[in-house]
Amino acid sequence: MLALLNNGLIKMEYDNRIMLMDSKSDMIYYTDGNKTYRRTLMNDIIEIKIDDNIRKIRYLNKNEKINVVNNFYHNVKLLSRKYEFLNEHIKNYDYLYERSTDLIKIYNGTIPIVPPDQYFSLYLRISYGCPWNKCTFCNLYKNEKYSIIDFPSLKNQISNLKLYFGDSIKSRKGIFLGDANSINIKNNTLIKYIKYINDNFNLPLYAFSDAFTTPFNDNDFDLLKRYNMKRIYIGIESGNEQILKVLNKKMSPDIAIKFINNIKRHNINVGLIIMSGFGNSNHVNDTINFIKNIDLSRGDIVYISPLKKYDDFSKIIIENNIDDSIEVKNNQFMELKENISELYNIPVVLYDINEALY
Ligand code: SF4
Repeated sequence: MLALLNNGLIKMEYDNRIMLMDSKSDMIYYTDGNKTYRRTLMNDIIEIKIDDNIRKIRYLNKNEKINVVNNFYHNVKLLSRKYEFLNEHIKNYDYLYERSTDLIKIYNGTIPIVPPDQYFSLYLRISYGCPWNKCTFCNLYKNEKYSIIDFPSLKNQISNLKLYFGDSIKSRKGIFLGDANSINIKNNTLIKYIKYINDNFNLPLYAFSDAFTTPFNDNDFDLLKRYNMKRIYIGIESGNEQILKVLNKKMSPDIAIKFINNIKRHNINVGLIIMSGFGNSNHVNDTINFIKNIDLSRGDIVYISPLKKYDDFSKIIIENNIDDSIEVKNNQFMELKENISELYNIPVVLYDINEALY
């Protein structure tokens, strides 16, 4: 039996169950036997379990969520008999639902995705949507018009988030600048925003970028580094030009290599996202060759994201005769992982976009 409050987080153990919430009583995760339930700040609950060495994930429906949340706070209640400070943290599903509704209001909408290592950063929404928004495989921002928030709105968002998180903000170890390509903002504005964010949090900054719409020069990267930019996440998807065309990613591999190496030269780390699931192509070889040309080092990460289909993209896959079967996805995942791990001593990990929720 254990309940420990540290840095805005409350870690608890009861009868082989492991639980984590923040000091605002928001459930973060709950492990019971071979199942873990992770609650996102948008109030989804994802069930993660390992069956026959295969990781399986599933979103819970509303009744299942209520059940898991009730169990979670029931355990908090049992623990409160020994750890009195937990009394004020015994909540229920309605409380969590209201919390997520309040947060969605602060962000002016839901947050569609973050990189897997950024679940526990503080998301600041300095732009909405994606400036390109035309990749065939991506429907994350289809209904969002790209725009940049104005400075008063940023100030407002930050003060509302501070109130929302209260003391639990201490558990957030970085700032993720959303949405899809927030560092594409005109440089003077971006630096003004980042300075203000630094003054408020003094935490490392993280952001997505693409390698074809962001026209950075050396001076820009110097400034980003000076103002605490720690890692930039770039969707590469493939080193194969034909696949990039199918994906409508207007990226030339050569220009992307230059762009990424330039980031690295300024001592900013990168997180590169590549995909698996393009059978009948040279995707794997070309992607490994692409990665070979980048000077990856400690602090960098390569993510492999299995191809996920939706409406129109399914047709494109069929039209282009791409074999995206589970076997192809798994085999390419392993081939990419093994080859890249031989090249560089950095993490090469799964990026399941179904799980990558804030
Ligand atoms: S650049 Fe990124 S966010 Fe924008 S459409 Fe392509 S994959 Fe989606």
